Amino acid sequence: MTQKSILGCLVAFLFAPCGIAAPVGSLPPETARSIASSQAQAQSQATPSGEGVLGAITATGSKRFTPAQIAEASGLKIGVQVNRETLQMAANKLAKTGLFSDVHYRFSSQGPNVSLEFQVTDASTLPVAFDNFPWFTDQELDKAIRQSVELFDGTAPEDGSYVDTIAAVIKKQLEAVGVPGRVEHRVLERPIGPGLEVQYRLVGPTLTVGAVQFTDPLAQHDERVSERLQDLVGKPFSRYYVDIFAAEQVQPIYLSQGFLKVQFGAPEARFSGDPNHPDLGHVVVIVPVTPGPRFTWGGASWSGNTVYDAAALNRMMGLSQGQTADGLAIDFVVVDWDKYRDSALAKRLHVTQRATLIVLKGDKAGFEFPPRERKARAKDAAPKAPPVKLDFTGQQPLGKCPKCGGKVFEAESAYLCERSQADKKPCRFKINKEILQRPIPREQALRLLESGKTDLLDQFISKAGKPFAAYLVMDEAGKVTFDFPPRDGGT
Ligand SMILES: [Zn+2]
Repeated sequence: MTQKSILGCLVAFLFAPCGIAAPVGSLPPETARSIASSQAQAQSQATPSGEGVLGAITATGSKRFTPAQIAEASGLKIGVQVNRETLQMAANKLAKTGLFSDVHYRFSSQGPNVSLEFQVTDASTLPVAFDNFPWFTDQELDKAIRQSVELFDGTAPEDGSYVDTIAAVIKKQLEAVGVPGRVEHRVLERPIGPGLEVQYRLVGPTLTVGAVQFTDPLAQHDERVSERLQDLVGKPFSRYYVDIFAAEQVQPIYLSQGFLKVQFGAPEARFSGDPNHPDLGHVVVIVPVTPGPRFTWGGASWSGNTVYDAAALNRMMGLSQGQTADGLAIDFVVVDWDKYRDSALAKRLHVTQRATLIVLKGDKAGFEFPPRERKARAKDAAPKAPPVKLDFTGQQPLGKCPKCGGKVFEAESAYLCERSQADKKPCRFKINKEILQRPIPREQALRLLESGKTDLLDQFISKAGKPFAAYLVMDEAGKVTFDFPPRDGGT
């Protein structure tokens, strides 16, 4: 598995469910009818015919649309004469839009008045993308669609009359500026970002790409990008292909220079040449690039590694502290364990259990891919009772607890007394695995428990930000403090 796809899926995992949760599409009219009829029959004793004047329309079940919007989309209006057939047709109309995966209706009458209630379930919708209509901005198309399609919110279902209505609106816009051709829609995987999109495109007059410009100098002046631009220049204009180009050819250049959060905006197309005599055959494509902060590598923290210790894993990462965080060299593992357990990367690193995670740390990184569990910081020293009991079964103890004589085990952020997990009078003894930004390796914790003193450890960082070396020592009560070596050189 490549880093890119891991990164891509990581984003997918964090910001949106991968894939589409439920099948989308319109309910076949037959189904709508049968569901709707059975609902109606349930009411049929009170209102056998449904005939009368429509006094009220309500709608329930939609999170996207208001009852008024749904009533409007059904085509029914208060005060009109209705019967079961017209109510059924209105329900079918809603089902055919594709916006609802389920449409029921029921009605009741009081005197001459009929009250109607739609019960709907929203279908999942996808973002709408306009591929090759350089005559209009996205905003212009969006506005035109909203004027004709009341329910439009920038998304659309995969199919149904609603999708066709949008296509018809775009077609009308094109006709107004004298552009012939057919407007088609298709469902595609988004080139940048997770998930699918409903893409509208013009099949007709061919516009070719005259030039491509990036708004950021790094992409604009990069030689590899310039060389590869022949993939786009002179070819039919398609924002979809521009997006793919950005993802495949431009993004890696940013990642390799530490711009881990680079973002590409929707490509804009402008006619080249004299604005009064635009050359309709060619467009200039402008790709907005937001490079974001440049990350340096702040180190990795590891948990759940059973085969390699942290030092070995860090060597495999091949990055040293302070170095530019090469996005192509950083692997993110086990964000969704069930998905990545069989990945080549998990195998290469011999990741054998859930909860192994590499994160960027330090004030420079602050990466926004948080581990699921909040990491205990040295600052939040007070140990809060863990919500889930830790189970040390099968683990090798490090030594004896100085407070209560229980066994000390390695946990995620500290070496803990086994009786820390007791319900009654838990033992509070622990040695943090990181003290003043310095990791305390297992063998040093073991030594501390055994002899009351570690080796001389360097690279503690004082509150003033200065590194210093010290021994960690422990008294009979289990309190861990620093012991400083004698200063050399001074008299
Ligand atoms: Zn204890």
